[in-house]
Amino acid sequence: MNCQLCQKNLDAYQEGRLPSDMMTQVESHLETCDSCKRIYNAQLLAGRVIITEKETDANPFLVTRVMAMIENMENTGHEKESLRIRLLRPALVTVSLAAAVFFGIMLGNLSRPARNADKIPVELALINDASLESVDILSNE
Ligand SMILES: [Zn+2]
Repeated sequence: MNCQLCQKNLDAYQEGRLPSDMMTQVESHLETCDSCKRIYNAQLLAGRVIITEKETDANPFLVTRVMAMIENMENTGHEKESLRIRLLRPALVTVSLAAAVFFGIMLGNLSRPARNADKIPVELALINDASLESVDILSNE
């Protein structure tokens, strides 16, 4: 087991996807090799960050949860409290609408370069046509 092979198999090792003899080979290499061990630790850390980010993905539901909480409070809460919530709710709706519009614009920007790529050849073809025409005119004279 060399370092290159070890590092190539680290992903599979971390997920336990390697054949068992490969697992033990990577494992024993990690015990003896500091640089691979460091890479493996970094990978473990990165994996943990990804897991944390996956957990925070639940956030889109935050608005829904807050809205449900507001509904509950409106049903059970005091007059004064529900008045404040009635003022707060349009703000929340505005925020989620703004987010939707923002993502719409983002998506529009993402698809635009593709449209431009289609446009350029057409324009180039027109330019070529124009130059061909002028050549024709010149040759007629
Ligand atoms: Zn190594």
